[in-house]
Amino acid sequence: MSDLTYLKRLFQAYYKEKGLEIPKVNLFNQREFGFIPWEKKVYMKRHIGFEMRDNLIQYLINNGPKHAYSSGSIYLEPDNQSMEKKNYQGCDLIIDIDVDHFYTPCKDDHDLWYCIECGKSGKGIQEKCPHCKQTKIKKLNWICQDCLGIAKNEIQKLIHNFLIPDFGIEEDQISVVFSGNRGYHLKVENKDIRTLSSDERREIVDYITGKNISFEILGLREKGTNIYGLSMENIGWSQKIMKKIEEILKKSDTEIKDFLLNKRKFNFNENVVRSFINYKDDYLEIISKGQKNIWSIEGFGLTNWKGFLKGIVREIGSEIDEPVTIDIHRLIRYPGSLHGATGFKTQQIDLTELESFTPLDETNEKIDPIVFKSDITQKLKIIETFLPSIKIKGEIYGPYNQGEVIEVPHHISVFLLCKKVAETV
Ligand SMILES: [Zn+2]
Ligand SMILES: [Zn+2]
Repeated sequence: MSDLTYLKRLFQAYYKEKGLEIPKVNLFNQREFGFIPWEKKVYMKRHIGFEMRDNLIQYLINNGPKHAYSSGSIYLEPDNQSMEKKNYQGCDLIIDIDVDHFYTPCKDDHDLWYCIECGKSGKGIQEKCPHCKQTKIKKLNWICQDCLGIAKNEIQKLIHNFLIPDFGIEEDQISVVFSGNRGYHLKVENKDIRTLSSDERREIVDYITGKNISFEILGLREKGTNIYGLSMENIGWSQKIMKKIEEILKKSDTEIKDFLLNKRKFNFNENVVRSFINYKDDYLEIISKGQKNIWSIEGFGLTNWKGFLKGIVREIGSEIDEPVTIDIHRLIRYPGSLHGATGFKTQQIDLTELESFTPLDETNEKIDPIVFKSDITQKLKIIETFLPSIKIKGEIYGPYNQGEVIEVPHHISVFLLCKKVAETV
């Protein structure tokens, strides 16, 4: 039996045993479903509709798909093969936060790249080879508790800094799902939001990410030799920025220095940062009093202030995957289904459970995405050039080199097979 057939049967068996635990999404029979099978040549089978949850479970048992999705949209005829004829009724607001799409420091340790042109390889994220400048790069994106923690933090920022206070969304209209691999999805089910067009969704995205924000509109201006800062009284972004600045100014000098010298956030040199720290108490006093709002730090002209504010905005904004929210015909991973790139479950999480949720080491069995946990071991041969180590359920596995034969517990074996970095021996 090939490894693909093995994984397919494993998924089928899982659905047979646990199918009834799979939740039923709202307006179930108006959703379009899509599946990616294990067989290589078939891409996605979509335009499928189910009358009842039992029909979905039966499909999963019969086919054991590698990936299972349903639409954020609702249609009168979800199974119509033509998008136009599906009779679109509206779409939930879908937000995807995936560490694939933004930098996290841990990636410098566990993400690898390999240049197909010149054979050079290295760690971290690279879009093109730093040696031969070619873009034919093979990447190995790994996961760890740190980047999944960062992704979770982005979801929490999104909920508590934007969706609830600025958009008036109620907690019970929000559902959060761990994707089963590198991130989280969030769905807002709200009658008014369902009617929004793609362009209107783009505006929501711009607001949440702080993209194209105008500091002048928020109050920043130069008058004579003075620079007037943002007003504290405004709501929305202005207030978020000022709160964040206050929070930062209350940190220690060393913390502020490290923060401002971070090249991914700001483009400041040591002198500018030193000046900022020298003036930070005065600055804090000015913004806390909220009177005569003149921001005066030696060496800080309008350009540096804007650079500073841009960095602050990036800190506040949420790292969402923009096309997912804008595209109203997108399919999203079905909650409770298995993720074919890890063998983990796409796990729905209550907002109250989110804070303590740790996907790679969850102790609450009801929301544990690692469903194939077992002490039974399996022998595998590593086929990837090099594998970084990974910590799952408190145990560290790896690093491993190509050709190495290892014996690991079932859930690790499933993970490595799904990642296509090992084969059974
Ligand atoms: Zn190269
Ligand atoms: Zn990581």
